[in-house]
Amino acid sequence: MSIELFFRHKLAEIDNAIDKACSRVQRHRSEITLVGVTKYVESKVALALHLAGVKDLGESRPQELWQKAKDLPATVNWHQIGHLQTNKIDKTLPLVTLIHSVDSTKLLQAIDKEATKQQRNVNVLLEVNMSREEAKHGFAPEEVDSVIGSLKDLKTTQVQGLMTMAAYSEDPENSRSTFAALRQLRDQMEPNMPSGHSLKHLSMGMSNDFVIAIEEGATLVRIGSILFEGLPDK
Ligand SMILES: *Cc1c(COP(=O)(O)O)cnc(C)c1O
Repeated sequence: MSIELFFRHKLAEIDNAIDKACSRVQRHRSEITLVGVTKYVESKVALALHLAGVKDLGESRPQELWQKAKDLPATVNWHQIGHLQTNKIDKTLPLVTLIHSVDSTKLLQAIDKEATKQQRNVNVLLEVNMSREEAKHGFAPEEVDSVIGSLKDLKTTQVQGLMTMAAYSEDPENSRSTFAALRQLRDQMEPNMPSGHSLKHLSMGMSNDFVIAIEEGATLVRIGSILFEGLPDK
């Protein structure tokens, strides 16, 4: 099977799962964007995925994103989904549609400073460590309120929502409470958003739990490993 055909089949399967999840909770498919996470594969495989119809691609390491952005056509919407170090902001901003992983006020301010310098509007999500795992990046849920209070000082950076990662578990049902808690946090915080900012996006759900995430309100699902399972050697 050609790699292109492989991805068409794979995407049809995933789309079907997304459709079913949507109809279970009466959401519209158009509310959900699949972000194909390409960190496991080289540029030519990422390109095949894009050509098979995935417009939005995500990378966790900025250097990987820079490389793939160079190798792939400008029709890709790039998402920075992993931790962003402040010394990598300048090269990353011109390339990305959305940064999912703003995990400190220091990073948020540094992004805004560089975005202002580059005269660029930058869209970001606040990463929240809902599962409170020490190894994870992100704001504690109780910090989000004060972060939102500080958004009025930003010049060209717009917060568009929240992102989280559930603790890994064999049973995706175990992610449900984490995703529901992120949605509840969003509903609570939404009235406090200063103008120009919003919490319309919830980035949650990965290969093992994206269906549950959609049932709980995800608008962006970040799917990597299942896309490449069974990939032909070319
Ligand atoms: C790798 C990664 C994903 C994709 O995870 P899979 O389980 O491979 O689908 C999603 N989000 C982030 C932040 C990641 O680093």
